[in-house]
Amino acid sequence: MSARGTEAAQDPAASMEPSAVFTADWVLPVSAGSAAAPAIRHGAVAVRDGRIAWVGRLDALPAEYAGLPVEAHAGILTPGLVNGHTHLQYTGFAELGRGSYGSFEHWSEEFEVFYQAVQDPAEWGHAAREGALLALRSGTTALAEIVTDPPARGVLEELGLQGVEYLEAIGETERRWGAGGRDAFIAWLDEDRGDAVAGARVGVSPHAPYSLDGEVIRDLTRLARDRGMRIHSHVGESAVEATLYAHGNREVLEIYGDMRDEFALIRSGGTGLSTARYAESIDLLGTDAHLAHAIYLDRDDRDLLRERGTRVSLCPRSNRVIGLEAPPIAAYLREGHEIAIGTDSLSSSPSLDLLGDVAALASLAREQGYADADLHERLVRAATLGGAGVLGRDDIGALAPGMRADLAVFEVMTVGDEAPEHALVERGEGSCSLTVIGGRVRHRRAEQAA
Ligand SMILES: [Zn+2]
Repeated sequence: MSARGTEAAQDPAASMEPSAVFTADWVLPVSAGSAAAPAIRHGAVAVRDGRIAWVGRLDALPAEYAGLPVEAHAGILTPGLVNGHTHLQYTGFAELGRGSYGSFEHWSEEFEVFYQAVQDPAEWGHAAREGALLALRSGTTALAEIVTDPPARGVLEELGLQGVEYLEAIGETERRWGAGGRDAFIAWLDEDRGDAVAGARVGVSPHAPYSLDGEVIRDLTRLARDRGMRIHSHVGESAVEATLYAHGNREVLEIYGDMRDEFALIRSGGTGLSTARYAESIDLLGTDAHLAHAIYLDRDDRDLLRERGTRVSLCPRSNRVIGLEAPPIAAYLREGHEIAIGTDSLSSSPSLDLLGDVAALASLAREQGYADADLHERLVRAATLGGAGVLGRDDIGALAPGMRADLAVFEVMTVGDEAPEHALVERGEGSCSLTVIGGRVRHRRAEQAA
């Protein structure tokens, strides 16, 4: 994959002015409002000063844009993809992601071996940068990125990608949090306030309700909300975490060894609450929060998330590698959730190409009995506008005048009267030929640049 692509930084042909007209066989605007935005055959997007000025059929291009340079492409042009859950710092753990595991607890033990083997903290930064480039080459322009180790911070901005870097807290009991953990986390969070205010680029990730005491999560969400930052956590990923919240079962805490007994849920014998009710009780739900995986949630739990405006990011390929059940995609669609889609990291996924997970969800939805004709359209929406929603952004995820000119082209052709959404979902993986952020070409497939 990497050998085929070039990035703008190394490619003089790509350093163009951020005003141009991009055309393709199909343009998928994805509607930001309630009205449908149908696919446009022989479509064009006029970009002026990094923003979208006009979208329509090329033969209807207004005269005022006729003088702009034209970039003509084969295939399907879409809003830049938004990856709703990833950890780029684990891009070097691809060997782990190529394995297969019997449970979340089994995978976690193997993960710890890889994690502890990293000697030089600078490696986290190198891996994150490499991961960001892989995302860029597959049409991704924004990410919900979790940063666990400080050297991994800053790569989105460095590469011109949009999104939020959620600083992660993990393994904190009330005692540890009070004995220095909290102070260290606040210092990290506020390291870069100017940037946080300017770009809403920093968020808070309480890793999961099983790896942090409830009081610590409450404190973290307060710290985030006081700063206007967004919140992102892992919920419903392990098959047994629900028994911890309800009854104090220790199984999901395997990697914590003797420290397991320190967690408040163990000491109290659980809360009797379901997973989503417990998450709500520790202030983890809200329109400013989104949850990764959300597999092991029943109808009541899912309804609670929807009522609280809390969205989920589904990561089906990661779930498969780890040996989990499939996310209940058909239920989420039928019950009216606006979802996002994430790749998770290479430590549990075969690639950072979001369209791989989009295709996996299409197949799972059918297996789970979802037969509505809107399946492909809704999945394209989830991979673009749905992701923008979890990032709290209303200026990306769709192609409409005034929005940022973040877009991608996929060299995939429709067959007969096939809808372009169908072609993109089913065969789009690995086909990205162009990625544009803020009107600038940031990735161009090498054979086209020649
Ligand atoms: Zn994750």
